[in-house]
Amino acid sequence: MKPHIVVVGSSNTDLIMRVPRIPRPGETVLGGHFSTAPGGKGANQAVAAARAGGRVTFIARVGRDSFGAQALAGFRRDGLDVRHVRHDPEAPSGVALIFVAADGQNSIAVAGGANANLSVADVQRARRAFANARAVLLQLETPLATVDAAAALAARCGARVILNPAPARELPDALLRRVSVLTPNELEAETLTGVKVRDARSAKKAARRLLEHGVEAVVITLGARGAWVATAAGDKRVPGFRVRAVDTTAAGDVFNGALAVALGEGRSLLDAVRFANAAAAISVTRLGAQPSAPKRAEIERLLRRAA
Ligand code: ADP
Repeated sequence: MKPHIVVVGSSNTDLIMRVPRIPRPGETVLGGHFSTAPGGKGANQAVAAARAGGRVTFIARVGRDSFGAQALAGFRRDGLDVRHVRHDPEAPSGVALIFVAADGQNSIAVAGGANANLSVADVQRARRAFANARAVLLQLETPLATVDAAAALAARCGARVILNPAPARELPDALLRRVSVLTPNELEAETLTGVKVRDARSAKKAARRLLEHGVEAVVITLGARGAWVATAAGDKRVPGFRVRAVDTTAAGDVFNGALAVALGEGRSLLDAVRFANAAAAISVTRLGAQPSAPKRAEIERLLRRAA
């Protein structure tokens, strides 16, 4: 049976313009190519978890606009339970305006819109979904009080809490004590601890600091090198899979979605991280955020090939 995963978080629409160069203040640059793509860390992780084999309930807010309608249609195509995706009565859907220059540089501005209104009451309204969840997956693109309420409810229901602390910000110990697995990337780990993560020693040091705040396990993602896994019992690097990377957008989101599913299935933390590394490795071989998240069969194929 598929494990039930609850994801609480953001949904955005990425408005992407490829331009010869990024316009300076006051400048108009012609010759752009425009596209849109569904995004937002919450939505990316929810979709990734569903494709990796989870039964996913997504708790989020979108606007009453065409971006919100498109996002919802996408979630339904991926089989998410969207009963708790609310239409905000006033705010527009979250939007990220992204310029990508010919030399690969980018510049991004985000308007959180409806995401900023995802409330403690929204979480409480969905409490039945938490009751039979195996894992609850959270990020930091929605208000901290909402994240905190979701973690508290999950803990009460006996579900494991996975917190992807992105974008990084200071976090209260009361929240960290409810976290089963904290999943920063190297930069987020540095923001949270002040320790620059560049090798095994510094990864271990950063992870120790986070464990001291009461989280049960820390998984620092290390890009192509895989992930650093730390618990009270010790530390270990789980190597990544060697692939030809073309776009690492949302690699962390795919990692988190897959990790939640594997933990929900009752795998050990090290096994779950290997599964998540495989899912994320496939995603970097493809363009885009949600479109790049692999299906379960693809993840298993890579794991078998590498075994
Ligand atoms: P983020 O996307 O949040 O910055 P990372 O860059 O650490 O996070 O990537 C998350 C995960 O994606 C890694 O732990 C790894 O499993 C996978 N990954 C990222 N880049 C590569 C790569 N070039 N080759 C293989 N796997 C990768």
